[in-house]
Amino acid sequence: MKERLRSHGLKTVCEEATCPNLGSCFREGVATVMVLGRICTRACPFCDVDHGKPSPPDLDEPARLAALVKETGVRFLVVTSVDRDDLPDGGAGHFRDIVKTLRREIPGLGIEILVPDFRRSLDLSLSLLRNIEIDVFNHNLETVPSLYSIVRPGADYRHSLRLLSRFSSENPGIPVKSGIMVGLGEAAPDVREVLSDLRDSGVTIVTIGQYLPPSLSHLPVSRYVHPDEFLAMGEEARQMGFSVVESGPLVRSSYHAEKLLKAQEDTFLLTYRERSI
Ligand code: SF4
Repeated sequence: MKERLRSHGLKTVCEEATCPNLGSCFREGVATVMVLGRICTRACPFCDVDHGKPSPPDLDEPARLAALVKETGVRFLVVTSVDRDDLPDGGAGHFRDIVKTLRREIPGLGIEILVPDFRRSLDLSLSLLRNIEIDVFNHNLETVPSLYSIVRPGADYRHSLRLLSRFSSENPGIPVKSGIMVGLGEAAPDVREVLSDLRDSGVTIVTIGQYLPPSLSHLPVSRYVHPDEFLAMGEEARQMGFSVVESGPLVRSSYHAEKLLKAQEDTFLLTYRERSI
């Protein structure tokens, strides 16, 4: 998979962010590709992505991505990007073009987009993404509001909730997903507050995973959360009405992305069937 990615000049966040699940996902034909370059305009101290002045979007990227998918037989693709505060639309137009190309070239492909926060262009970015033909819309809150200034200094908690809530209401029928890391110093009531805010913002799929520093120069881990606590948080999230929850030490936002969508569809069908009896 790595060779083919390179031959198409593509990068995965799996590799850039040193994800522990890379092996199993690649084997399952699931990958998270990073578009809009490798240079982010932000510098979140937990993240292993390079920061600085990005180059302009590569207009051939949609076609190269479609060629990679056809060649590798990937069934479910997660498309993500760095933050592009330098672009008037934050990169939303490029996401739209990529999805259009993938839909035209590989109609049956499962597509999830994991987007940045479009902090400087929310209205424009959302208008460019309206009615986009995706299976899942994802934007990570990453952590609890009290830790934003440390963990996500360039972002705003309320703004990210607004992005999720507006996409959900403006694109009914597309499941909305978000995720957080724990082990950064948050307390259980903080996590409960975030889960409740996500439900109020129309989010139905949530992931909760352990923060693991990519290197010693990144934000230190505050604690390793016990697997039983992940189970408890997961159960609490289900009680709050999330239709799909993935909570565990090695869980990452795109981990089992295809399975989570299927679970959401099954839950929906089940509810639909229950409702129609
Ligand atoms: S915005 Fe995203 S890609 Fe950029 S530094 Fe933060 S987490 Fe990493």
